[in-house]
Parts: sequence; structure tokens; C-alpha cells
Amino acid sequence: MERRISGRTASDGLAIGPATILHALDGASRSKGSIAEEHAVLATAVARAREAVAELIGQLAGDAAELIGFQLALLEDDALTETAYAQIERGVAADVAWRAAMAEEIAGYETADDEYFRARASDLADIRDRVLRHLFGLADDGQLLDGAIVVARDLAPSAFLGIDWSKGGGIVLGEGSPTSHVAMLARGRGVPMVVGLGHEWEELTGQLLVDGGRGVVVVDPGVEHVDAARAEGETLTRRKAEAVARQCEQALTRDGTAVAVLVNISGPADMTVLPAAACDGVGLARTEFLTANLLHDEEAQVSAYTDLMRWADGRPVTIRTLDAGGDKPIPGYTIDGESNPFLGLRGIRLSLRHADIFRIQLRALARAAALGPLKVMLPMVTNAAELDAARSHLRAVLAELADSNVAFAEPALGMMVEVPAAALAAQNFAADFFSIGTNDLTQYATAASRDGAEVADYADVLHPGVLAMIAHVVRAGRVRGVEVSVCGDAAGDVRAIRALLEAGVRALSVSPGLLPLVKAAIRELDLVGIAEGA
Ligand code: PEP
Ligand code: MG
Repeated sequence: MERRISGRTASDGLAIGPATILHALDGASRSKGSIAEEHAVLATAVARAREAVAELIGQLAGDAAELIGFQLALLEDDALTETAYAQIERGVAADVAWRAAMAEEIAGYETADDEYFRARASDLADIRDRVLRHLFGLADDGQLLDGAIVVARDLAPSAFLGIDWSKGGGIVLGEGSPTSHVAMLARGRGVPMVVGLGHEWEELTGQLLVDGGRGVVVVDPGVEHVDAARAEGETLTRRKAEAVARQCEQALTRDGTAVAVLVNISGPADMTVLPAAACDGVGLARTEFLTANLLHDEEAQVSAYTDLMRWADGRPVTIRTLDAGGDKPIPGYTIDGESNPFLGLRGIRLSLRHADIFRIQLRALARAAALGPLKVMLPMVTNAAELDAARSHLRAVLAELADSNVAFAEPALGMMVEVPAAALAAQNFAADFFSIGTNDLTQYATAASRDGAEVADYADVLHPGVLAMIAHVVRAGRVRGVEVSVCGDAAGDVRAIRALLEAGVRALSVSPGLLPLVKAAIRELDLVGIAEGA
């Protein structure tokens, strides 16, 4: 029976696939069907695990084949599954029954007198996990099946980046918000995503249809629904294909106003989405994703930035210094246990506390600047003194490099405008450029956390108070004679682009997956008669 559950749109598009509970082996549970269904589900999972083990044995030889042969023998022995089936008959869910039955078996082996049997306990744990993976819709190696719909309470950006989305798939979250970092990454890669389902996420099994644009999830969709979704998906694909055909053309509004469209890069995969010729440069490279493990490694950072410069092929590249903290913790670097990490030590605040690490990054950036027009951008700047301090570090690093024999150049030094106090005082900041971070600016201005499902309606970039700040920053940029762009998600949101252009913005930096549709939306707009910056 088809069932519809409403959540909130986080990334447009349609996906149909098997529900896959992430972290299946960490104690998550599935919802329970009838006794017959649970029986069948466990029988299928055991059969799949048996096939996978038999296939593995075929690829192995000697001792290794013999060891795995023990697992096959166990999986073929009905005695192993008897206890689990008995529990299912008493109304227990297949995964709970299997876990409990295997816990008993494993305890039996672990306490055996014979060392040989004690050593076999790990084989049993391996069998337990293999069957669990099949019960939760994961492939035998723990990876997601192609086209799987990831179902979870919430998803960390790093978990998203660890999944290969090239074969399709979608995301359904019990919590989460359309303005979270993971939603932003999903939009960039075109992965349909619905958030804020509430407790119902725990009950999702079987086939799911994720309708990202409508914020709806359909469980076990009927044939008619699947056909309609496929037809709609084809229309979306056609519209996108038309936009892609014109992606390398300049974006001009109907009245001929030119709008620069740059891209946000959040990881190496983003460079494969588009040819660089489609964009006017990189407006934001988020180094917390590119170089999080490389904080102390200058050479590795130079190499990551060089890849970006080569990809951009002479176009301007804006690289942001580390914006760790908030929902992007880096163990050992960010502070644990802050009562509100979004209002805590984040971005430039942390960089100035870890001057050694900050200088390594500035050195690597100055070295990469030798290859072309690289700009350095500071995140979360609140006070003019932070900009001054960062400039002093940059000067010191440039002096060091001048004494060495490595190639380098002085990059422009600009700032994100994402703290309301900085937005309202933008005219006081001696930055070489401003880039408005609408994600954080909106969360701080509306007092609505960007990752909170319950307050997502409040975090609205179209709030007149937020738009007034954006217009103010544009005016401050003109007075100071520096460029102003928008690199927050509003730049890629076709519902917000008109308001941004009306506020006087003429440069947008968007996730690569959105660029073709953003250019198409700009071409539809007519700015004649608009009092720019009003
Ligand atoms: C923003 O806050 O709008 C922004 C672009 O930065 P991030 O999303 O990485 O915090
Ligand atoms: Mg930000």
C-alpha cells in the first residue's frame, strides 16, 4: 500500500530506490512487517550473505578459502537461524531477532574451552554483520547499492562526501534543514533530498520515491505514481539539458545586464561537474572539505590549490581559509562541547588562535597564487581587527617566501560578509572584496539555526531585514570601490535571484550542479524599471 509522508524540500529532483538505513551496524533498527514478511526478509538476507560468501571462496585459494569455508558451513546450517526464526514467530522484527540470536551464539563461542572455537567468534560476528547489511539494504561490502535512498536522522557533510552519488540515489532525513551544509552539497550534486520528516523516518523500508521539489516521500509507490514521477523526471532532465546546452554563454538578463556566475567548490568531485568554461571563475572554494586532513601539510595544500587553479584555467579563483566549527568540526582543531557551536569559535576566530596552522595555509595559498589570479577570502569576519590581524600574518608569510627560492605571488585578501554586525558596518572593513554568505547571514539575522528543521521557515533570505543588509553591503562595496558577490545558497536559488539582483548584486557564486539553471533563470529576468539597490 502506497503511503505519502511530507517533509521539507532540501534539494529538487526525483529518485526511486530502496530505503537504506545508514549506520545499520551501529544499532539502528528497521520497522517491522508481518511475521511472514519478517521471516521472508531474514531468509532472503541469509541467502544473499551465503551467495556472497560462496562467491568469495571462489576467488580465494588455500588457507583463506578454508577459513571462509567455515562461514559458509555455518550459513548453510539451519541451526544458526533457528533461534532467530523462533523469535520472529513471537512477533520480533527480523533484525532484532537476528542480532539477539547471534549475540547468544557469539557468547557461546567466546566462552568455549577450545581455543579453536574461541577464535571462530570473529567469524560469527562477520556473518552477523553480513546478514545485517543485507537486511538494511547495503551492499555486501557495506557500500550503498546504486540508486539507494539514504534514510537517517541526520547526515554529516563528511558522510555525504563519502558516498558515490554518480549512480543516482536520494536522501531522506528525520531532522535536518534546507540550509544545512549537507543540503547545500546535495543541491550541488543534484541529489534529491527531503528533510524534517520527524519520527516517521524510523519507519521507512522498502521502495521509496523521493520527490525533492515537493518535499514528499512516497513509500512503496504504485505503478501509476512511479510512471508519473518518471515522466516528470524526464521533463526536468530535458529542461536541464536545454540549460546545459547554453551553460558556456554569458548570463545576460532580458534587458542586457551582465551577471557574473561563478562556482562554489566543496571538494575535488565538484570540478568534474562542469567545464571551467561554463563559469566566470571560482567564487568560493571551501577548504575545510578540500584540506581538512592536511592542516599541517603545506605541500599537499599547494597541490590541492594547484589542481583548482589548473581547472579554472586563468579564471579568478577565490579560496576561503579554513571555516571549521559550527556543523563542520575537525577533531583536535575545533572546540568540543561548545553550548552553541554556530555562535562559538568558528572560521577566522579559530584560525587566529591556531596561527601556526593559519600560516601554513597562507603560505600554500601565496605559492599557488604564482599560477594565476588567486584571491584569499576570510570566513566569519566580525571585527576590522580580525582582517588586520590576518593581513599581518599574510605579510609575514610573504616576507618569509621572499627569502626563500619558491615561486609565490601576493593574493588579494577579501572577506565573507556573513555576520550581521559586519554587514551593517561593511564600509569600515579594508577588504579587497566582499562576498556575502547568505547562509550564515540569514541564520544569524533571523535567529534561526541553519540546521534546525523546526525553525527552517524563519531562516528566510527573502526576509526584508536580510535583503536590507545585502543591499547595504553592495552600497558599501561601491563606496570602497571593491567587488561584491554572493556565494551563499541564495545565489543558486532561482526563487531568490531576482531579489539579489534588485539589491544590486551582479556576481553570483553557485554550486556547479545548479549553474546551468541559474544562468537560464537570469536570462528570464528583466531589470528595466527596477530601482537598483533599493
Ligand atoms: C554562507 O554562510 O553563506 C557560506 C557561503 O558559507 P558556508 O555555507 O560554508 O558557511
Ligand atoms: Mg558561512
